[in-house]
Amino acid sequence: RNVKPLDVLLQFSVSSPRLPPLPALPTKPLHLDKSDIKFGIKIGEGNYGEVYRGQMTDAQGRQETVAIKSLKAVGQTDDLKREFRIMQKLKHRNIVRLCGLVDSDEEDMYVVMEYLPMGSLKDYLKTHREHINNTMLLKFAMDIAEGMDYLEQSRIIHRDLAARNILVADQHTVKITDFGLAQEPNKGNYYIRQTNRALPLPWYAIECIETGKFSHKSDVWSYGVTCWEMFTRGQEPDLPQKPETLIQMLKNGKRLNLKPPCHPTIYAELIRPCWDQEPETRPNFSALIQQVKELQE
Ligand code: ADP
Ligand code: MG
Repeated sequence: RNVKPLDVLLQFSVSSPRLPPLPALPTKPLHLDKSDIKFGIKIGEGNYGEVYRGQMTDAQGRQETVAIKSLKAVGQTDDLKREFRIMQKLKHRNIVRLCGLVDSDEEDMYVVMEYLPMGSLKDYLKTHREHINNTMLLKFAMDIAEGMDYLEQSRIIHRDLAARNILVADQHTVKITDFGLAQEPNKGNYYIRQTNRALPLPWYAIECIETGKFSHKSDVWSYGVTCWEMFTRGQEPDLPQKPETLIQMLKNGKRLNLKPPCHPTIYAELIRPCWDQEPETRPNFSALIQQVKELQE
């Protein structure tokens, strides 16, 4: 196979956790015209966006099945452009691949990405409850940790890590998606919330709810909640809705409980450490990769 030097560089930096953040990828012509895409059925909807299945014709005239994401509300094109800008910098086997941005019309913008026919992990956990085992779930936990470790090296804070934002590629592989809330911290290692969008509180670290301070370590907290969703086979995190009540509860040391069928060792060694009160004492994503490895043995 004819491997381009850039591909080699990227593959190398992806598998080596000690390298500095990746340079931005050279901007391929990822700008699409609306006539390059055809819309099919609606396949998903979150708080901000709507996602459709569709067909894309690339510059070489090849057809590809894609997922097309639009925003529900008007006047939020800056958010969609930011989502595109962040996704454009990322290339990893556990992160959904971007195909392009339809931005010929400022009022009618779409992010186009690879289509994963098996859908979200949240739905997969519910529909395959009976056939899922710990071996599969630990592999998913590994994939998410590796994708998040890569994001940490790329200095991107995801801010919305949850089972609904993980897609299933096949029985052994998952990918991280929905960079709608993601941020690049301008200085230091944290970002202060600037939007008043409704936030997914049960997934948020105590300091995010209290002070709006997001960091890689608050993504680690959300990783713990995502694993809790996985190992309980898609149960809803049952925490108080009101921010004040939730903060008080977390300050008193209460957390989401161990629930069957989650294995107690997985709860104690993988999930619970992500919810340490102090961000500094939580594991980082490379430590979580090691932890999952130990649990796999
Ligand atoms: P929102 O910002 O509105 O939450 P998401 O990007 O999370 O939008 O997508 C919403 C839902 O659409 C997901 O939970 C998933 O079910 C579905 N979806 C999103 N992207 C894809 C994709 N690339 N392939 C298949 N399904 C997808
Ligand atoms: Mg989402």
